[in-house]
Amino acid sequence: MPEDFTVTPWEVTGDIDYDELQKKFGTTPIDDVLLDRFAGYGKLHPMLRRGIFYTHRDMVPLLNEYDKGNKFVLYTGRGPSGNTHLGHMMPWIFNKWIQDTFGVDMVFQMTNDEKFLFKDLTLDDTTSMAYENALDFIALGFDPKKTKIILNTKNVDKLYPIALSVAKKVTFSTAKAVFGFDNSTNIGSIFYTAMQSAPAFLPSVDAGRQVPVLIPCGIDQDPHFRVTRDVAPGLGFPKPALICCKMMPGLSGEDKMSSSDENATIYTTDTPKAVKKKVGRAFTGGCVSVEEQREKGGNPEVCSVFKYNYYMFEHDDEKINELAQKCRNGEILCGECKMCLTQKINVFLEDHQDKREKAKDVIADMTYDNFEW
Ligand code: SF4
Repeated sequence: MPEDFTVTPWEVTGDIDYDELQKKFGTTPIDDVLLDRFAGYGKLHPMLRRGIFYTHRDMVPLLNEYDKGNKFVLYTGRGPSGNTHLGHMMPWIFNKWIQDTFGVDMVFQMTNDEKFLFKDLTLDDTTSMAYENALDFIALGFDPKKTKIILNTKNVDKLYPIALSVAKKVTFSTAKAVFGFDNSTNIGSIFYTAMQSAPAFLPSVDAGRQVPVLIPCGIDQDPHFRVTRDVAPGLGFPKPALICCKMMPGLSGEDKMSSSDENATIYTTDTPKAVKKKVGRAFTGGCVSVEEQREKGGNPEVCSVFKYNYYMFEHDDEKINELAQKCRNGEILCGECKMCLTQKINVFLEDHQDKREKAKDVIADMTYDNFEW
């Protein structure tokens, strides 16, 4: 991998070359044949059409099983270390599309133990953050009858026996090679990947038969699931399939939206004023003066405002192409463009914040084994 970017489950920095990352991780590109197959189940989600979900592991055998009537279970999750931002929501939105399109059950893992082990946070911090993040997840409209939220420290009775069987198959040498651990790493962190593997096998344990699992997630999580897939056959479980996305860019022009740069990150709880301010300061592909931009045009490829439209806020392909064209021709200026995006985000957040409040009434019914927060 070139030296100028790093992608691990805990660190994403630099200018990410997604093709290079795909090669490095050994995942398979989503090609036109697979896209056509997806289109046979329902209208393709823009994140598939636009190559935001761009790479996978074993989607074809998973769909073959599905076609035979062997439904898969969806599994994704969240490391609760802070408020939810749009970068977290992006793959959840895609998960919702998969649930609706395929009519499948889902488990959503809240890794409060992980964030306690890897960050300077107390377990109380990460547990209360898990509750807040879960409200955002529920607000997206997952089917309450088909969706269960796991909180690692609450569902430990179910997860721990599975995690133990995983841990027994993973050596320290593998953990070091996959995650870059060294002798200063705390031993909880070294064990942790076993807990992230457990929900991939939980549906099989619960059903008492082999249940296929699909994990839609950011490509940065692939290292965990390589370990999960490696140990699966030896434990008598099917290897989970993966479908992975690129990272939601930051408003500062970085390749990944990050909580460490709060001014370039839109949180689900942001006020309209805060959104206006953050988008107002966003990195764009515009020119220094209005005259120059009218004359030379802007560059949507590098523009974070354009990327926000492309990733989440403009689903209409014709409109997104028109925006790119107008930008290149200098027919639209950055101020106007930022105002448009601000409005779209605020419309989305107003609705989301309303649903987030309502999620408090149903969260108790959506916990795995009915645990109490
Ligand atoms: Fe970006 Fe819009 Fe400016 Fe073009 S006009 S560079 S798309 S903000």
